Amino acid sequence: MNNYFKIAAFTIVLSSCHSSDNELSNLQAKPKKDTLQEVIQQEKFEYVAEQFSDLRVLRYHVKDFDKIPLQTKTLLYYLYEAALSGRDIIYDQNYKYNLAIRKTLEAIVSNYNGNAEDEQYQKLLVYAKRVWFSNGIHHHYNMDKILPECSKDFFLEVANDLEPTELPLSVGETKTQFLNFIANQIFDPKIASKKVSLDSKTDLVKSSAVNFYEGVTQKEASDFYTAQVNKSSNQNPMYGLNSKLVKENGKLVEKIWKVGGMYSASIEKIVYWLEQAATVAENEAQKTALEKLVKFYKSGDLNDFDDYNIAWVNDTASSVDVVNGFIEVYQDPLGKKGSFESVVSVKDFEASKRIATIGKNAQWFEDNSPLLPQHKKKNVKGISAKVINAVVESGDSSPSTPIGINLPNNEWIREEKGSKSVNLGNIVEAYEEAAGANVTDEFYYNDEIKGRIKTYASLADKLHTDMHEVIGHASGVIEPGIGQPQETLKNYSSALEEGRADLVALYYLLDPKLVELGVMPNLECGKAAYDEYITKGLIVQLSRIKLGKEIEEAHMRNRKMVAAWAFEKGAKENVIEKKVENGKTYFVVNDYNKLRVLFGELLREIQRVKSQGDYKAGQALIENYGVKIDQDLHKEILERYSHLKIAPYAGFIQPKLIPIIEGGKIIDVKIEYPKDFTTQMLELGKKYGFLPVLN
Ligand code: ZN
Repeated sequence: MNNYFKIAAFTIVLSSCHSSDNELSNLQAKPKKDTLQEVIQQEKFEYVAEQFSDLRVLRYHVKDFDKIPLQTKTLLYYLYEAALSGRDIIYDQNYKYNLAIRKTLEAIVSNYNGNAEDEQYQKLLVYAKRVWFSNGIHHHYNMDKILPECSKDFFLEVANDLEPTELPLSVGETKTQFLNFIANQIFDPKIASKKVSLDSKTDLVKSSAVNFYEGVTQKEASDFYTAQVNKSSNQNPMYGLNSKLVKENGKLVEKIWKVGGMYSASIEKIVYWLEQAATVAENEAQKTALEKLVKFYKSGDLNDFDDYNIAWVNDTASSVDVVNGFIEVYQDPLGKKGSFESVVSVKDFEASKRIATIGKNAQWFEDNSPLLPQHKKKNVKGISAKVINAVVESGDSSPSTPIGINLPNNEWIREEKGSKSVNLGNIVEAYEEAAGANVTDEFYYNDEIKGRIKTYASLADKLHTDMHEVIGHASGVIEPGIGQPQETLKNYSSALEEGRADLVALYYLLDPKLVELGVMPNLECGKAAYDEYITKGLIVQLSRIKLGKEIEEAHMRNRKMVAAWAFEKGAKENVIEKKVENGKTYFVVNDYNKLRVLFGELLREIQRVKSQGDYKAGQALIENYGVKIDQDLHKEILERYSHLKIAPYAGFIQPKLIPIIEGGKIIDVKIEYPKDFTTQMLELGKKYGFLPVLN
């Protein structure tokens, strides 16, 4: 439910590429006593670091970090170490040989002493940066294998210059054997061509490169986990969340990710830092939650994870929050295995007022929603909502990041104990600061609409995220005996769930209630949200997809499905009009109120699909409206977008926390904002490279 961002943050920017050398010399030219913090305050913070391939690297800023009390800063520092300690895990989860490949690339980049401007080397470097950006050899978003533009010969030539000790060779393996193996892994497009396959015509497990299953078919895996569900209990843990499922001697066995189990070397470090963190917790509730998380990492028992999540939901008073664990299941074609991630954050008290207002009125929104009466929550529990500022992100949340998070994911805890929602304020701010007006000018129809977008889209996006997370994911109930949507709706559950949450937000964005609550100035803001949603869903997001491909990612499918469904259903009354002028296609909303009614109808239907586990209906919605792309339109959009010269995906360089230690005690924690992506990746790879290359 996390990851909401990856579309909403699709406000895009014309960025300029900075040479990191120039930036370094600028900094060095400052008088020595300036701390980086002061430099930032003196100059405008630079949000854009660089751009390569289809990626932009941005930076974010933690407001008033130096004003945070020492104990809280110390807590943040321990959680920062815990977050980064798990960094290797995501690489191994994404693909079995990712760590070996990454370490080889890092050895090359660290030791290369040829001409840095050499074209082949530049291409190899871009490949390395793309691997870091995606935590592996597959595109973080479209799941396709990334292929280097440099030649295999060049790769082997520079890799062969390395000493064997620089490479992660296994015992008995020669350098040549190792490098040939790695080169094939990197350059052969047929090896591990897709990270996560959602093509329902194939065996999803076998056709996906992720390292969650080995020697197991989709049916075996599904049956294995279905058999674990206790049908008479409505408090089942999310079976399979923290393990790799393998076949050993003809039997299915789970290799659990825990201390003493798989990934132990990283998890032991995480546990160490979480234990440190518990000693400086802000209050008992936070301390209890941290201790329960440690217990889970030690036992690997998913009931302990549920226990932890309940404790985490109960911790609402703390200013520091942390997500650390095996959380989102998007990277598993079967939606069972949690990818490691961590987000460490501190509350933004001022900005939290807006989201809190929506959270406080959650029951009103539920009562007034267009859902069928039997699918409404009678008692919306414990929705806690706030705006946070990220301090560090790791694993699945980095470098590409969510802008909103709603957890925990276990449906029974959400229903009975509630959930927590956050909006990552400083990330959203960084996106906005880095964004330009070019996309708006190109893809929106006339000055009235463009003006409205420019005035209101920033607030509309925030409200959309707030409502998507706070009342969207938290809304609705599943009918008794139906089971979790991952079971019933399978590979369509993520896209349908995101669609449901988006539709709750869209439905209310045109409701006078938001004006009455004081969180929206007028309904023009809601109209801007509608203009934006339709244009992004039908047009702008296509820029992220290669010609000839279909839409695969859950959030993109959802957005396309909602917009295309509304377009078709409103066609008779011309609710949304397709206009073509000078060879440019636009989708223009003619009737906002009728569009709202359509959004309400689709919301009711998707909730019904979820509540009743209606796989067929869910499949039809996604396949008919969310997957296919009109080829002519696609070609046109790619052409128009290419003129804007903006990479469509963004991710972030992380701030760096540095403890100042005196007499064995932390007396202060400083924050720095590194500027060079490659330097940070090499540094993190070295400092937190705890795992062996094969796990
Ligand atoms: Zn979501």
